[in-house]
Amino acid sequence: MSDRPAPTHKEAGGSARGASLADKLARVGVLRDEDLVLHLPLRYEDHTRLVPLARVRAGATVQTEGVVANAEIQYRPRRQLVCLLRDAERRDATLTLRFFSFYPSHQKALTQGARIRVYGDVRDGYFGPEIVHPQFRVVHEDTPLPDRLTPVYPSTAGLSQDVLRKAVERALAADAARTAEVLPEDLLRRRDLWSFADALRFLHAPPPRLSAGAQKALDERTHPAWTRIKFDELLAQQLSLKAHRKARASRRAPVLTGTGALTRALLERIPFKLTRAQQRVWHEIGHDLRRGVPMQRLLQGDVGSGKTIVAALAALQAIESGKQVAFMAPTEILAEQHYRKLQSWLSGVGVEIAWLSGSLPAKARRKAAEALESGAAHFAIGTHALFQEGVALPRLGLAIIDEQHRFGVAQRLALRDKGMTEAHQLMMSATPIPRTLAMTFYADLDVSMLDEMPPGRTPVATRLVSQRRRAEIIAWVGKACREGRQAYWVCPLIEESEKLELQTAVALHAELTRAFAAPETQGPVSGATAAPATSSPGTLAAVPAARPIVVGLVHGRMKPDEKAATMEAFARGDIGVLVATTVIEVGVDIPNASIMVIEHAERFGLAQLHQLRGRVGRGAAESSCVLLFEEPLTDTARQRLKVIYETSDGFEIARQDLLIRGPGEFLGARQSGVPLLRFADLERDVALIEQARDAADELLKTDPAAAMRHLDRWLGARQAFIKA
Ligand code: ADP
Ligand code: MG
Repeated sequence: MSDRPAPTHKEAGGSARGASLADKLARVGVLRDEDLVLHLPLRYEDHTRLVPLARVRAGATVQTEGVVANAEIQYRPRRQLVCLLRDAERRDATLTLRFFSFYPSHQKALTQGARIRVYGDVRDGYFGPEIVHPQFRVVHEDTPLPDRLTPVYPSTAGLSQDVLRKAVERALAADAARTAEVLPEDLLRRRDLWSFADALRFLHAPPPRLSAGAQKALDERTHPAWTRIKFDELLAQQLSLKAHRKARASRRAPVLTGTGALTRALLERIPFKLTRAQQRVWHEIGHDLRRGVPMQRLLQGDVGSGKTIVAALAALQAIESGKQVAFMAPTEILAEQHYRKLQSWLSGVGVEIAWLSGSLPAKARRKAAEALESGAAHFAIGTHALFQEGVALPRLGLAIIDEQHRFGVAQRLALRDKGMTEAHQLMMSATPIPRTLAMTFYADLDVSMLDEMPPGRTPVATRLVSQRRRAEIIAWVGKACREGRQAYWVCPLIEESEKLELQTAVALHAELTRAFAAPETQGPVSGATAAPATSSPGTLAAVPAARPIVVGLVHGRMKPDEKAATMEAFARGDIGVLVATTVIEVGVDIPNASIMVIEHAERFGLAQLHQLRGRVGRGAAESSCVLLFEEPLTDTARQRLKVIYETSDGFEIARQDLLIRGPGEFLGARQSGVPLLRFADLERDVALIEQARDAADELLKTDPAAAMRHLDRWLGARQAFIKA
């Protein structure tokens, strides 16, 4: 293997442009020469055949040759270089080449009489077949054709395929160690895997005229050559996970024995008894905290299963042990709610809580930060701004991350690898992890499961109602709220435009305010006429009390204190109907609210619908969720609504969700732009993941040195994964 310091790409691009070539290669993930070996093609072009120019037809992708009959710059309709090629023998056969962007070098090459080999998509032009922006080169009559398919590599602006191809070729040829086998022969043979060198040779330069089956397998990345590469990638991932787990086991974290004083106080103050599941997971977490090894545990439990109280108990155990705790939530509203709830649960027991959020006034922020830094405050609650903006928690013992799935894998790994390594970590999520992710990106976590709901919950009745019947729903909600119930009314999701979403929220608020201001909304739901405010309590069932309905509004653009005030008014019962954007999607817990109306439910994802519906059914009252949908429905929208209608089990919903849209969303890679796996596909390569997991165990046992070499080959440039 090359011992030269990386990155050194001078060999590939000439010394003058060496530095910038290295930059461009870094942009496509190539940091060392040996990484080029694993820079694999996206697809291939067949340059091994020539179609006679006379037989070039529109609609095909072809390679052909001809002689330049004419080349000139034309100005209409816009500036362009147009070149007419003629067949060398059949002078009547022509092909037009059209370039809208071109350099003097193009004009120079396309001189009259030059023999040109071109490759591209043929379309019908005004003067017969033409190719826009073809690949081309000047050739002689006897210039040989390549005998292999031409790879097309992932690239970036200013990095041409030619340069990349040459760089890869050179990297492959420069050092045999780069393609040498590092895995034991026997391990490969038993799994029927190709050798590393064969797989690379094949993928960088496949032979032409493959059988239809082999070509399809190559394109779909199911060919044995791809299988070997994907296996290697997954094996590297498994090895790094195991390395990480092992490294964690050897690290020290504070031993949080606790005294039991605060946790006991909390258990006495809450108005309910822990469920058996809560007791069990609390026990698991409590045990971890005492071990002196950093905990990395995921607490999984469906929406409403009662994760917050478990987190609070864990926090108190840490605080009893003289440590600080950070509790982080993905939204301001949720963080604020946690803050209020914990304040009320813990008032008078001597736990100082600091509230931190991104939009706190500077002075309040500074005060909170100082209290934490001096150790006067024990418990920091806030949004992730808490961690991002350098708030120091000198005695941090435990970090709690609520709604972890909102943060994505990349963020989790970043957090894992940042200075939080000395603290215990508790992550919470209502979204069950798909099996493939549990085997891969989450395999280094321990998992606790809250598989029991607190008692006394009534199932939420879900109704699917066409938007056409919206007026009836307004009337029905009006009646229910006059009787003292409370409702969320979720605005339609408008993903393209936050501004439009805001306008919609404001308009909806105005509309409902108007609708509910009328003394009695006429609807088909009730035959009752307007009832006097002083209606006798004895006739409760028949006559709704004419309570005025206050309609509130909460959305992401509001100031945090306005948001908080609105949520509080809703929690107090001063607001009857709360018009809301998805800011209320996760975590919000207002047990008295028992109606959820979601407009244009067809636009929401399954996980979102489940989370939104989970905002109701938290108290003893019978709860309803009305999903208003607009017709016509797409197939996937119909599927989603069917699932949400038929089941309320979060795990089943997550399973269906995965079937409908795949695990990509869970990775959060889309937001972060970090490609976590380059070749393997978590959905399609489940069997390979299992093989790789077994192979990782085997390799670590039988040949740890080979495991290290393999990791270096695959992750040398991506140290983040093995850095413990
Ligand atoms: P989630 O798991 O979705 O975060 P929460 O922690 O918000 O759920 O709990 C949902 C509601 O259930 C809260 O109002 C909480 O106080 C209540 N709760 C939690 N545990 C119990 C229990 N054992 N018995 C009754 N109510 C409970
Ligand atoms: Mg919660």
